[in-house]
Amino acid sequence: MMKNCLECGEKIVGREDKKFCSDGCRNAYNNKINKDSNNFMRNINNKLRKNYRILSEINIEGKSKTTRAKLLSKGFDFVFFTNILNTKTGNTYYFLYDQGYMLLDNDYIMLVKKDI
Ligand SMILES: [Zn+2]
Repeated sequence: MMKNCLECGEKIVGREDKKFCSDGCRNAYNNKINKDSNNFMRNINNKLRKNYRILSEINIEGKSKTTRAKLLSKGFDFVFFTNILNTKTGNTYYFLYDQGYMLLDNDYIMLVKKDI
């Protein structure tokens, strides 16, 4: 059965399990896949870095209070964080590396810094 190269669509001659017509096409194809996943990771890392920068700018003292509106106005994206900490007292902290926050009532937000 004839197969076509996944990269360029040319007919493949040779072994049955070949997916590409040449090494060049295999490399080009794999590079594209890697590039896509790298772009995806880079976008997420940029979001995390931005969130971290915003928290660091506001939370200079290591512990402070702010509002959801203020974070949003600076471009904070609540979807992205590095880890969650559930305390024994039932509080949930969201962390961007060593900068964390806890949601309070009335859209207030407690900012904390983890001692490393
Ligand atoms: Zn090809």
